[in-house]
Amino acid sequence: MTEEIWGQTRDALQGTIGRNNYLTWIEPLRFVSLQDGVAAFDVATKFMGDWVQRNFGDEIMRQMNKLGGEVDRLSFSVCREAAKDIAVKPYSPAVQATAQKTQHKKMHKPDEILPGAPLDKRFTFDRFVVGKPNELAHAAARRVAEGGPVSFNPLFLYGGVGLGKTHLMHAIAWELQERSPELRVVYLSAEQFMYRFIQALRDRQMMDFKELFRSVDVLMVDDVQFIAGKDSTQDEFFHTFNALVDQNKQIIISADRAPGEIDGLEERIRSRLQWGLVVDLHPTDYELRLGILQQKVEQYQSQQPDLDISQGVLEFLAQRISNNVRVLEGALTRLFAFASLVGRKITLDMAQESLADILRASDRKVTMDEIMRKTCDYYSVRMSDLMSPKRSRNIARPRQMAMYLAKQLTSRSYPEIGRRFGGRDHTTVIHAVRKIEELKSQDSQISEDAELLRRMLEA
Ligand code: ADP
Ligand code: MG
Repeated sequence: MTEEIWGQTRDALQGTIGRNNYLTWIEPLRFVSLQDGVAAFDVATKFMGDWVQRNFGDEIMRQMNKLGGEVDRLSFSVCREAAKDIAVKPYSPAVQATAQKTQHKKMHKPDEILPGAPLDKRFTFDRFVVGKPNELAHAAARRVAEGGPVSFNPLFLYGGVGLGKTHLMHAIAWELQERSPELRVVYLSAEQFMYRFIQALRDRQMMDFKELFRSVDVLMVDDVQFIAGKDSTQDEFFHTFNALVDQNKQIIISADRAPGEIDGLEERIRSRLQWGLVVDLHPTDYELRLGILQQKVEQYQSQQPDLDISQGVLEFLAQRISNNVRVLEGALTRLFAFASLVGRKITLDMAQESLADILRASDRKVTMDEIMRKTCDYYSVRMSDLMSPKRSRNIARPRQMAMYLAKQLTSRSYPEIGRRFGGRDHTTVIHAVRKIEELKSQDSQISEDAELLRRMLEA
């Protein structure tokens, strides 16, 4: 019976935390028992247990409770016998309350239920890394979060998947909640809006529905493209929207594209959405990705000080993994999981091995040939020189640089790279990569060369 609850919880988790997280963290858990509100699991290492608790504990409990599990805490032990000793600290009552409430989030007034969805604790302004691609969206979100007089209404945020729209909306909600606890702030997805609307229709509670939504101070609707083509939901959304704008209440909307590009959206809604401030989140660039990775590493390290990852590996990830920040985070999480399971330091090789599927999916397809040609142009040497046995500095350095770039920008192995450079041994390539990495931190000319070449190759 309890086994069954866990089985179904696992299925549900695949959908809510993503397949990568599921495979890395949930799959290896061994369910032991569910007794007196404690769900007990066996784990391979203490690190894994801590990690699962910290990152997915709430969600696991939420799912188990949804299935009638009556769980109020989780316990992880490294082996079954030790289960009694390594019981994990119980959740704080506040967290417990959120975990058990699956639909409603009481954000402000505990005496009423607002129609919003729960907010992710991690999605705060503190944890949002600002770079060129998102600085405008961030600045607009900050302004709205100050809660002053409404200056643009709605704020419309749009951008591709995984670029931080939901993160920014939650950050606004957290900040407003902190600054002005009396405000009624409601965040929900357009999909949830639709379900609540349908439910209200079915239960003949449209008056309540209307009243509820018209009485909020700040309304945030995420992924509004979802209601395109759903006519009666759009209609209701439009009325809610107008009623709130008339009362000068702030509205924040997100979508995966600009209002004008959402097919199936009524013209009157489209134009109303454009009244306010429309800002987009651009695809991430290398610098932003690196910044985000560095921030994540610092967060991990504050919990797990012995985790060691070199700048070179971070640069590699920022380089090779595409725009979607969620994918980037997933890669880092997986890397840390591997490192902790095998107890090894994270190297470039290990990153390439353990992330092969992700890397392949976001391969930028820079070829060895391009790397060699551009490097030759850059240093004014001949291709034949790179292949030759010549070892003078003015030839050897460009060759090492090209090998380094080949390792960073392609998925070629050391031996493969060696073969392309006049049949050199893989140890020569390893040496070259190390040499450039070392020089980059000491010699600003070398680091500039590497940076410029990388940009040229990426363009
Ligand atoms: P979207 O809603 O645009 O699809 P999310 O807001 O869900 O994207 O972001 C996806 C993941 O990437 C989240 O875990 C989020 O915290 C993270 N993320 C996105 N942008 C940033 C950023 N600028 N700084 C830190 N984390 C970010
Ligand atoms: Mg989102």
